[in-house]
Amino acid sequence: MRQKFFTKKRVTSLCLLAVTLAAGVVLGLLQVMPQAAFTPSDEEYPAYERMLGNVRDFSSAPHPMGTEENIAVRDMILEEITEMGLTPAVSSYTLSYEDIMRLQLSVYKQTEEQWWSENGAWVEDYYNIHSADEWWQYLYQYEGGAVALSNILVKLDSPSSDSSVMFVSHYDSVADGYGAGDDMVAVCAMLEGLRSQANNANLSNDLYFLFTDGEEDVMLGAQCFAKDNPEFISELDMIVNLDARGNSGGLLLYETSPKAGSFVDFAVRSDAPVIPFSLAFAIYEQMDNWTDFTVFLQNGGKGINLAVIGGYEYYHTHEDTFENLNKDTACDYLKAVLALSSRAAEESLLPLSNSDAAVSFPFLPVGAVVISYPAAVVISALGVALFALWLELCVWRKKVSIPAAAVLGVVSLLTIASAIFFMAENYLFSIPLVMFSLSFLLKKIKPAYVAALMVSGVVSLLLWTPVVYLLWEAMVVPMLG
Ligand SMILES: [Zn+2]
Repeated sequence: MRQKFFTKKRVTSLCLLAVTLAAGVVLGLLQVMPQAAFTPSDEEYPAYERMLGNVRDFSSAPHPMGTEENIAVRDMILEEITEMGLTPAVSSYTLSYEDIMRLQLSVYKQTEEQWWSENGAWVEDYYNIHSADEWWQYLYQYEGGAVALSNILVKLDSPSSDSSVMFVSHYDSVADGYGAGDDMVAVCAMLEGLRSQANNANLSNDLYFLFTDGEEDVMLGAQCFAKDNPEFISELDMIVNLDARGNSGGLLLYETSPKAGSFVDFAVRSDAPVIPFSLAFAIYEQMDNWTDFTVFLQNGGKGINLAVIGGYEYYHTHEDTFENLNKDTACDYLKAVLALSSRAAEESLLPLSNSDAAVSFPFLPVGAVVISYPAAVVISALGVALFALWLELCVWRKKVSIPAAAVLGVVSLLTIASAIFFMAENYLFSIPLVMFSLSFLLKKIKPAYVAALMVSGVVSLLLWTPVVYLLWEAMVVPMLG
């Protein structure tokens, strides 16, 4: 029996299958990893070194809003900016306990009742607190009853245009965390982006760099900024928010304003090492995860939100230190800000609009793919047509492979259903459907058939591995924060 099972043909097939699986999974995972950091031979290496030095200095102590350590970080940021010959605008606010409560409750309103219904009994028992309102009051008490916070805004003015891009990160940390990953690395990357364009006299667009305070306390800095500048936010052509929910992995473009295909396309074309992921947008939409970007969206802003999700165990802890920060990941933040700011410095933003929906996903051979919805529908239709053609050919030859027909039949149904109901995941079915249907049509041409099957397998794994990574991280990372 055993000898019969291991025929030469079977062994060859199994080997080819193993090669396909290994190649697909390894290459698939590479897509969500950071690139290698700059080395001394790279032109940008000095910026990278300077950024790392700043991250180390700025995250030497926890620096939540309203503390001396927070003011020290702010002063260091301001010193960097003024040394570039630029004039930062600092907006300071003093929020009373009531102000903070009101702002927090306005944000938590949507989650408050649900949270209370799930945890209320336990909290009541343990803390002797009897309502959601009282619970939030208990959580957010500030000594002295007031807290001061300051946002820093820097503008680089374009002589020829009023179109504008704004980069945003927050310089406060949680009370217990050093905040190297969240969000000092983004702050320090932005400082280098600012430095790289500070003396550019031919900017094609206005560039703004906003460093917010109090993000960790329900985006208080961003909320104050939005309250003072509602028109400014809605008039910006694109906002790029940089945050983190960990300290390693690749930089995910995991959230956008609605119908932001052209923003994703802009980011991909800029060669920034960002990993666009329309499926992540769809998952993220279902979750209550707040960043400064949320505030800007609520105030009519449009753009993209970037973050890493690897190393969640360090997030908001005492371990979010410079030493524990993945340096390749840090360099990806720098590369992203340099690439996006340089693209925004060179290219008119006028073609950007928030009216085109697109599917986007990492794809190693080309980095990333952005497909408009109409094109995605065409690919789906092509896949279903090729499947039908193959099936008809099988029936005509009176030789139908039932398992293959069943699997592709199910994939066809999923392709159609996703095209109608959930476009973000459509590519996961439509592209493998096209490729495997084509492979099966080549069945009579043996070497081409085997090669096509292997390529289809690798491509499918390239598409699916990042999804598994994302779902895995999403399960590990409780997105409610
Ligand atoms: Zn953060």
